[in-house]
Amino acid sequence: MNIALIAHDKKKDALVGFVTAYKAILAEHNLYATGTTGTRLMNETGLSIHRFQSGPYGGDQEIGAYVANNKMDIVIFFRDPLTAQPHEPDVTALIRLCDVYSVPLATNMGTAEIIIKGLERGDLSWRTIVYGKSGDQDA
Ligand code: PGA
Repeated sequence: MNIALIAHDKKKDALVGFVTAYKAILAEHNLYATGTTGTRLMNETGLSIHRFQSGPYGGDQEIGAYVANNKMDIVIFFRDPLTAQPHEPDVTALIRLCDVYSVPLATNMGTAEIIIKGLERGDLSWRTIVYGKSGDQDA
């Protein structure tokens, strides 16, 4: 599975804690992150992560492009709901694309934990029920 990890600045500590807690599961998958989030996660967890641009510089849109091309299976995006973001349109666009393509999206730790536990169980039918394994959007 390809998994994207993103956190706004005030949520980065929480994401580092989350990824540390579930490191053994996440290490079995291909991990992607926006720039600053990825640097912190690699330094503090030792995981290998493909880094896109920093979010305000296009990283969210790069992840959105992966979603649109059926290359991202899960997006974990710890948003900061209390701070205005200069790239709010990009954030909204990424969330929208996850809904367009039925990609599981966690915007907080509670949902992220449920998704990771589903991943651990091998409960992955969310990607096949609607679109089939190919992600065919004509379905
Ligand atoms: P960052 O981007 O990981 O580069 O901080 C996250 C975001 O704000 O979308």
